[in-house]
Amino acid sequence: MNPTLRIDLNTLTENARTVFALCAEHGIDVTAVTKVFCGEPEIVAALSRGGATRFGDSRAANVRRYSHIPGEKWLIRLPMPSEADAVVAYCDVSLNSETAAVRALNSAAGAANKRHKVILMVELGDIREGILDERELLDAADEIMRMRSIELYGIGTNLSCLSFVRPDEAKLRKLSDLRAAIEKRTGSALAVVSGGNSVTLNLMLGGGVPPGVNNLRLGESVLFGKERDTYTRLAGTRDDAFILEAEIIELKEKPSLPWGTFGCDSYGNKPAHNDIGVRRRAICAVGRQDTDFETMSCADRGAALLGGSSDHMLVDVTDCERQYKAGDTLRFKLGYFALMRAMTSQYVKKDYLR
Ligand SMILES: *Cc1c(COP(=O)(O)O)cnc(C)c1O
Repeated sequence: MNPTLRIDLNTLTENARTVFALCAEHGIDVTAVTKVFCGEPEIVAALSRGGATRFGDSRAANVRRYSHIPGEKWLIRLPMPSEADAVVAYCDVSLNSETAAVRALNSAAGAANKRHKVILMVELGDIREGILDERELLDAADEIMRMRSIELYGIGTNLSCLSFVRPDEAKLRKLSDLRAAIEKRTGSALAVVSGGNSVTLNLMLGGGVPPGVNNLRLGESVLFGKERDTYTRLAGTRDDAFILEAEIIELKEKPSLPWGTFGCDSYGNKPAHNDIGVRRRAICAVGRQDTDFETMSCADRGAALLGGSSDHMLVDVTDCERQYKAGDTLRFKLGYFALMRAMTSQYVKKDYLR
């Protein structure tokens, strides 16, 4: 069946091993983030073979999919108060910034006879989730400490996901200081100081993560072998674990310049066109519903991705050595959002290489 997503599990195991070892050298333990691949248990198992003992996902439904794989399970999106029962059922830990949600978790955990661990999120400038006011943070910590079925497990921050504000030494030192302030207020130690996502790796490699920060939540860097601040490859990793194969349904020579009068595209913009002469154009049976053209690239030499629509993808194959025809497949190396859509699309077959 096409399109097919080929997933090399050994590569993922090796990437995990390499990135975890790098983090261990800097005193950092990793929570492997599984959301971009919808918590697919085959991939979680591959990361587990690479040494992962903590797993995090933004959706409890994804964590549920790998309940059978041992490890500490984190919900890394703030829980919806209405999903407290599912959160305590499938996750050991959750990231929180709303005391009301933690109260709901406390009730749910009490009813289930469990103890749920909470990491309080701190806002350090990216302006997504996290408590901004120090008083509010300390009061929240204090209240949570006294909840019967909740353990205050640590504090964390998230940067470079919305405004692309970088983590830096000062911000992470602030996080460390806030940990000390909470410990002073509550009189008990916090186990985890979670200093962000794949973007923090670059800072870590330069020695800029202060001691005290002892955890990172890593998705992209492990799966694609790239630190995310400057998008450079991490030594010893590979970036080709996820390859999408799409079948050609038309292969014809056509002019590159469309003709007629022009309307707006689906986003309301007037498209611009260049004339580069007559080209060999392949139409592949895959589209925006299955992948993201902006975060993928052609793996076939000489092929160039032109773009497409919800169910069609156009590739210029004029400069390819191989003479493609309808029925052949083209290969694409996927990046983050391209992989996310391919994993989510029911129309893409997943093929696991062991
Ligand atoms: C997605 C996410 C991560 C992982 O981000 P990567 O860039 O894939 O490493 C970590 N923490 C939170 C809160 C997230 O939402």
